[in-house]
Amino acid sequence: MFIKSHAESLELPALEASTRRVSVHHPVYSHVLTEWKNMRAAMKGEKEVAYSLRFLDEDNYYILRDIRLRDEQGFFQIDTLVLSETFALILEVKNWYGTIVFGENGQVTRINDNQEETGFKNPVPQAKLQQHRLQKWLHSHGITNLPIEFLVVISFPSTILKAASTKNLIPANVIHNSDLFFRISEIANNFSSSSLNKLKLRDLSRAIAGAHMPKNDNVLQRFQLTSGDLLEGVFCPECGASPMRRNKRQWACGHCGCNSKDAHLAALNDYKLLIGHSISNREARRFLQVESPYVAKYILQKEGYGRVGMTKNRRYLLR
Ligand SMILES: [Zn+2]
Repeated sequence: MFIKSHAESLELPALEASTRRVSVHHPVYSHVLTEWKNMRAAMKGEKEVAYSLRFLDEDNYYILRDIRLRDEQGFFQIDTLVLSETFALILEVKNWYGTIVFGENGQVTRINDNQEETGFKNPVPQAKLQQHRLQKWLHSHGITNLPIEFLVVISFPSTILKAASTKNLIPANVIHNSDLFFRISEIANNFSSSSLNKLKLRDLSRAIAGAHMPKNDNVLQRFQLTSGDLLEGVFCPECGASPMRRNKRQWACGHCGCNSKDAHLAALNDYKLLIGHSISNREARRFLQVESPYVAKYILQKEGYGRVGMTKNRRYLLR
């Protein structure tokens, strides 16, 4: 059974909002864009892997996704952890596209559709290090005899794995997602004696989920940006131009000429994802680029946002 999923995390929408609100001319823009693309691929890859894991017997396995644990060296992160009474299995998920070539000395190169080559860190030592750190973590929590295995899972079915020479250089622990279920069944057959009973297994799964330390998902802080670095204004829902102008209770686009009654909702959602969950009349005027406090008040009241504070200190709670 899946006991932890970060599907509801707001990190991906916040990154996506940053790709709109950080100017393409800002020095961090390309970094923001890369992070958003990587995270989008990671979420897609995670879904692929979760699909394979659905075939495991629910009564025998606990599955924890995106676990970040603290140890003496700092934090270590496990993409997916499969727990059973007889073994633990770390899945290091790689969302690699194209052709992945394993060379001598553990070199890993990706060749994309344009025949461009990129070097990658070999994922096996990385997974081994996680295995070591998890083992120590479990020891310090009184679990001393649970064997820990690991697999590096290539999430996308179209990715090709190749060896650079005729020697078999692809590590045995590196597999395609389509083989995952069968490999787990093989591993289960190798470990027949239980190290934990059902109750202890459940307690351990809960303990790990409880020890999870979420990453700071404040995207602005991560890129060392302030709200002043963001593009303000309401974007046109048709052509993306900004800012739209408020005219007769509607938003008008000066670029394509379209009108919208509710284009401010997307802007306020960006505000919520990046800046804060509540907004004052003054902040709304600035972010939506309207001059009149009455217009800002009209918009915020019309949307029925909850209110805290009186008169000048009033804040609207964005949903
Ligand atoms: Zn437009």
